[in-house]
Amino acid sequence: MQYSRTITEMIPGGDDGWNVFRKSRRMITDGTDVTELTIGEHDIRTDPVILDAMHRAALEGHTGYTTFDGEPELKEIVAERITTRTGVATTPANVLIAQGGQGGLFATHHLTCDPGDRALFIDPYYTTYPGTIRTVGAIPVAVTARAGNGFQPDAADIAAVAGGARSLLINSPNNPTGVIYTRQTMDGIAQVCRDHDLWLISDEVYDTQVWNGDHFSPRALPGMAGRTLVIGSMSKSHAMTGSRVGWVIGPEQAIGHMANLATHTTYGISGFTQHAAVFALGLGEAFEEQIAAPFRRRRDLVMRLMEGQNAIRAIPADGAMYVMLDIRRTGMSGEAFADGLLETHKVAVMPGESFGAAAAGHLRVALTVADDRLEDAMLKLLEFAKRQG
Ligand code: PLP
Repeated sequence: MQYSRTITEMIPGGDDGWNVFRKSRRMITDGTDVTELTIGEHDIRTDPVILDAMHRAALEGHTGYTTFDGEPELKEIVAERITTRTGVATTPANVLIAQGGQGGLFATHHLTCDPGDRALFIDPYYTTYPGTIRTVGAIPVAVTARAGNGFQPDAADIAAVAGGARSLLINSPNNPTGVIYTRQTMDGIAQVCRDHDLWLISDEVYDTQVWNGDHFSPRALPGMAGRTLVIGSMSKSHAMTGSRVGWVIGPEQAIGHMANLATHTTYGISGFTQHAAVFALGLGEAFEEQIAAPFRRRRDLVMRLMEGQNAIRAIPADGAMYVMLDIRRTGMSGEAFADGLLETHKVAVMPGESFGAAAAGHLRVALTVADDRLEDAMLKLLEFAKRQG
């Protein structure tokens, strides 16, 4: 039987960058005690108070079909949240509830691109980006954010490939680098979008994990609210990865189009999880800070452990649940280092290469285990690096 090219070409053949992760999972299944610093998931589960709210919502009858574009109560509280946090007036008509941030990435690219269109994204990148762009039949075009530039994308590099493109996907706070785009970077990005009539798709799923200052959304920049689509999610802010509740913020007409897409794809998100999300958002900032606190603490721990040595350089992480390490002085690739570290010390980290060519020679460390275990793993990683020199 024949399969569509959209499906078969979604993930190009060859190494998908997940070899070390799969190997560590096999070792764990075989009984080896591996410290996993790979995927971006909290070491806590969804809080029982949120699960109670989910249970209550189900018992109250939120078990049937829902409004395809999201429950009105959730759209309302998300709109209020975005207005308060970004200063940009946002109403429920600007909100689409999506199946997690990933559902938002899918919907926004279907909204903005036709088959054959070029869609820009920044390298290093979250692993699903190019594949998501290909689900539309669009062509993913990577723009390098250079390590030498602190992984800040350069507006001139974006402008150089922007002619005729439809969209630009950015992510700040950034996975995998932990970098937050400066105001100057954001201004440059906004200028390119205005000059080249691009949609800006701004993935802000780490907006509550900001270690210095406040989160800044480029939708707030002059002339950007009409061309920016912000992706948000309950996954990282509330440790609700499995609930699959996220959103897209954008112009009313754009939301209307994506509501049609929702009718023909997800058919809505389950009501009891949406009502649990309303409850969770109602817990306010203190709860969100409590969820983010371990990552802030562990980020400080890793940065401290990396001081006073030259084998490895930690990229200053200003947000998100990761620290990126530059291991180029060891002469090894990220892949070879990560594989060797796993074999030797039973510590699993992600090779930078898994997140694009721009992160080659780097490692992404997810701050997702208890502090003492993280410290032990980092000391082993340092020891391994020093032995390569
Ligand atoms: N965007 C980024 C940058 C991510 O790191 C992730 C998950 O790790 C997602 C989007 C998707 O998150 P979710 O679909 O759980 O909201």
